[in-house]
Amino acid sequence: MKTNRELTALITGSSRGIGKAIAVELASYGISIILNYIDSDDEAAGLSQEMHNNGRNVLAIKADVADRSQVKLMVARTVEEFGKIDILVNNAGITLDKTIKNLSYSDWDSVLSVNLTGVFNVTKEVLPHMIPLGRGCIINISSVIGQTGAVGQSNYSASKAGVIGFSKSCALEVARYGITVNAICPGYVETDMLKAVPADVLDKIKQRIPLRRFARPEEIAKLVRFLATDGDYITGQCININGGVFTG
Ligand code: NAP
Repeated sequence: MKTNRELTALITGSSRGIGKAIAVELASYGISIILNYIDSDDEAAGLSQEMHNNGRNVLAIKADVADRSQVKLMVARTVEEFGKIDILVNNAGITLDKTIKNLSYSDWDSVLSVNLTGVFNVTKEVLPHMIPLGRGCIINISSVIGQTGAVGQSNYSASKAGVIGFSKSCALEVARYGITVNAICPGYVETDMLKAVPADVLDKIKQRIPLRRFARPEEIAKLVRFLATDGDYITGQCININGGVFTG
């Protein structure tokens, strides 16, 4: 039986928002953390220092998940430092919201490259290190928008629907190695990502949520923590955490 202290988790996009909350939550269970980010040097350094001061084992690595060579270096550096990766949380994601009429090819490519190809890139690089362990846990952060679609979010919705399909296929491929793979589909969560949405639109969205509020990042993090530490028999699932906004 492994103690949490011996577990290592790589969390992409963990300088801010949901990823940061996941890092803090997993670290509070004694899990060693690799923080990943692309731009926020100060936030990543600050969080890393704060976690370190609290006695956590943490390493921050700047890498673009859409860039295969940077992902390769990030995973190599992680394994060099911690010897293994037990938990992978593919959380990094972006939005570039426009109706299809106004969406450029580069808007499409950017979102798909980070949100979907990024999940593939990191998973592909991590799996050869996880398989020999005979266990492991991969959690991919999708979105309710990948299940319902939304006006102005065709690129984002397609990327997040892709994450669900990828997670299910990956789960079937790696179950024989004792590795679980699940997608989490949050509804609307109070992070910088939501700040990009106009206030009047946010009000309308909130009225459609049965629980009448947005989620806190910490609520998503608790679900991730449960899957990572107690979800041994849960795999191939798409788990909704959305305040009731989609019940399918
Ligand atoms: P956020 O606050 O905007 O944070 C995004 C994080 O991803 C940051 O740490 C950012 O790093 C990192 N990132 C962006 N592009 C990256 C790249 N190419 N390579 C590596 N890291 C990158 O977003 P969030 O709201 O926490 O969202 C986290 C995940 O949850 C995303 O996958 C998102 O689609 C999903 N989600 C969010 C909501 C919501 O309502 N917020 C709902 C459902 C699903 P920097 O700080 O360096 O930029």
